[in-house]
Amino acid sequence: MAVGSDAVVKGLVGPNTRLVDLAGRRVIPGLNDAHAHLSMDPGNEILLETQSYDPSWSELRETISKTIGQAPVGAILFGNIGTTVFGDRTVDRAKLDEVSPDRPVILGTFDGHAAILNSAALKLLAIAEDVADPMGGRYERDGVGRLTGVVREYAYDAVLGRLAALASDADAEASLRDDLKSAARYGLTTIQDMPVSGNVDRTARLLAHIPTPIRVRITRMNGTTPAGPDYAEGAGAPPHPAPLVSVNGTKWVLDGVVFEGSLSPRASRSDPTDANDPHGFAGLPPLFSPPVIDRMLKDALQHHYQLQVHVFGTPAAREMLDAMERLGGASVWFGRRVRFEHGDGLTPELIARVKRMGVIVSQQGSHLDIRDIDPALGRGFFDRLQAERAQPLRSLLAAGIPVALGSDGPLNPWLGILGATTHPDRPEEAITREQALIAYTRGSAYAQFEESDKGILAPGKLADLAVLSQDVLTVPATDLLKTRSVLTLVGGRVAYDAHVLAQP
Ligand SMILES: [Zn+2]
Repeated sequence: MAVGSDAVVKGLVGPNTRLVDLAGRRVIPGLNDAHAHLSMDPGNEILLETQSYDPSWSELRETISKTIGQAPVGAILFGNIGTTVFGDRTVDRAKLDEVSPDRPVILGTFDGHAAILNSAALKLLAIAEDVADPMGGRYERDGVGRLTGVVREYAYDAVLGRLAALASDADAEASLRDDLKSAARYGLTTIQDMPVSGNVDRTARLLAHIPTPIRVRITRMNGTTPAGPDYAEGAGAPPHPAPLVSVNGTKWVLDGVVFEGSLSPRASRSDPTDANDPHGFAGLPPLFSPPVIDRMLKDALQHHYQLQVHVFGTPAAREMLDAMERLGGASVWFGRRVRFEHGDGLTPELIARVKRMGVIVSQQGSHLDIRDIDPALGRGFFDRLQAERAQPLRSLLAAGIPVALGSDGPLNPWLGILGATTHPDRPEEAITREQALIAYTRGSAYAQFEESDKGILAPGKLADLAVLSQDVLTVPATDLLKTRSVLTLVGGRVAYDAHVLAQP
């Protein structure tokens, strides 16, 4: 209704007005996480507690044995692995079966693009020996055609979809509820969620039922079949299942990640300084051929939805821009706000093309290597060599490209803001805290066509805002992560109240 001095605002006070004294605290537009994956975990899933996201096989083997000893009947064991175990070809279904002959074990890479399953997990998820590879994915086989338990890209997406489907409605709701509650505590008022394949309708239904304290935009992240992308999936989901929930847009994953080289043979990394290394940004192979990418673009044009594409490496970004040129160029695409999710491998040449095509780049500072800033954090996604080329944030802003920020991991937005504003291995690409806050609010709102309603505190906009526990523009970087909201409002209603503010 109004933004201004005490005198101006007090003039609007009526009998039902609740007055809150912020005592000089900073208030910001509510944060908007442009790239999140809300969890829907089965209640009987147990996380293997290892020291890091990149454990050794011996640590993992011990942890699995120990966990089996304590786990209730029916438990599903899920562990995070990194390049150490994934690069070790001797760790496969057979080796996991030795440690866990009966309990399902799923070892997922920390980036979410590959996993190793034992026989019990394959059975639980009904993945038969004769399963066909979905386009852009692979169920790896040995020399005699038997599944090795290794699943890649869109095959892993199918695995995650089936795993989420095992969660009861009550478990899935509890999982979503926890995520949304913690989001409101961080000052988030919108989350842009991308549920794994097969779960769009269900996510929409559950979120409408909860009901959510903050806004959630659900984007379809459809799976693929052996014949190609599954365009029909989620097409019937209601666009507005609840007042704070919307469903729109479709996301496709056009390449993998540098750690596993998309569908490159599973092996330890070769030379990451080599520009053509499949494990580096410059050489990361796309998952789809140009005709398939063209078809994705045509479907978005035909059905009038926003297209979001996971492009991590340089080749997939180039292929996407080439496809946009083939299908009408900027005159067709500018204004449709196609989104590049990640865009780590964008080169200066591609940045210029992204600008011309009106593409939005959605990045995640939380992926950067921020150990030096706060060793307690453990590791970011990137090791040093890769981080030196990742996320050209300042260059994107300098080119006038709309940038949105999001988490793609733990929901804490201050992790991403810390990464984006320090960029430890590529400091020349760090952005200011004010720029990061704008990207995490107005930038993310623009990325969902809602900048006229939110992302700024002004009369006529939605009253989505957060009062912060500390002044994030001035605290030392090492303190940024401690930031919490003390009062979060969504549409003028209290979504979270820490009860530390006085009511005069
Ligand atoms: Zn993601």
